Amino acid sequence: MIRVTAYLTDHHLGPGGLAGPGRPTEVDLDATVTGPAELSLAGLTVRDERGGDLFRRPGEHGYLFDPAAGGGPLAGPEAQYQARGFGVTNTAYHASRVLDLAARLLDRPLPPLVIRIGPHSVPGRGWGGGHYRLPGEASPPEPEPPARSGEIHLGAGRRFTERPDPGCSRYFHAPAHNPAIIYHEVGHHICHHTADFRANRLRPPLDQHNGKVALDEGTADFLAAVLLGTPDIYGWHRGLIPPWDPRRRQLDARWTTACMCPGNGRAHANGTVWASALWTAHERVRQAGGAGITRTLLTAMTRFGSHGADAAEEQQRRNRFSELLRELLAADPAIAPVVAGAMADHGILPYGRNWELRARMQARAASPDAQTTAPGTSETGRWPRTAAVRP
Ligand SMILES: [Zn+2]
Repeated sequence: MIRVTAYLTDHHLGPGGLAGPGRPTEVDLDATVTGPAELSLAGLTVRDERGGDLFRRPGEHGYLFDPAAGGGPLAGPEAQYQARGFGVTNTAYHASRVLDLAARLLDRPLPPLVIRIGPHSVPGRGWGGGHYRLPGEASPPEPEPPARSGEIHLGAGRRFTERPDPGCSRYFHAPAHNPAIIYHEVGHHICHHTADFRANRLRPPLDQHNGKVALDEGTADFLAAVLLGTPDIYGWHRGLIPPWDPRRRQLDARWTTACMCPGNGRAHANGTVWASALWTAHERVRQAGGAGITRTLLTAMTRFGSHGADAAEEQQRRNRFSELLRELLAADPAIAPVVAGAMADHGILPYGRNWELRARMQARAASPDAQTTAPGTSETGRWPRTAAVRP
């Protein structure tokens, strides 16, 4: 057991009404130092790959790094050292939290996960995101095949978070400092080993499909919301993007299938519809005295990913919102009526292809009875005007 620092979620809004990453807090982590910049936990390895010995001076208080406002290219060597050390401990803390939750709800640990911090950044052009990788074709390409059971890569960071208040100190947005990004990416690991949306277990182990469908992105966002305890998962680094903009990916904006866009490259935005519907169902089950839908969802995803033998056929089927909803309703009949009602409010029914769900909801939104029809707003107009009306 070692003592480290990590951001603990608080919903305190900072200057300009923006959410922060959380409060730096000392926590105990069941981890071992296994390299100059590597921590190992049960089923999890977190490593900063940018060189140097981050863990050279544990002292008597363990590995208590300072976030140092994210470090970054303009920071001095000591601030960079602190920020990178904090990135490793913060990532290990949050990743182990999601993995522990999944293991508890699934009644089994997931296969090992490796998280690498710093790849894909070339001098002069940083990378501010994260992705989940399996061996197989990928963009950007991987110089070495990722671990077969799954790997997360977190960029070194690319820019400072935007702050409206000029007196407020800036923060270099390092993905390893952002619990929401860590939860989202570990969410893909959970999806891969349960629903397996790309039917990768039916493909050769070294020729896995690395693309993500909307259900994958949406489920990862929903899990992030559960762990963070807020539907505004990216409120910190996207706090200046208005809630009606799909890029904000705020889950309580009542996104419906009417907002879905066909075509590639829309998995995050379309996934927000699924994530929002899950969040509505989760909240309604909780309001009715239940524990939410996380356990039911993981059970449903495990069953969803265990059917079928034809990879191409399964890829088609596992793309459909209605198919996963049916599995979700079957997984816990006691809450099924509440879940079905919440999903229907977002246009998701237990039958029909995705485009049919979209067409049906668009037709309803265009009918003379509908009060609000702008994309991203509520079909029934029950949401606050500030969130629903474009400026
Ligand atoms: Zn993703």
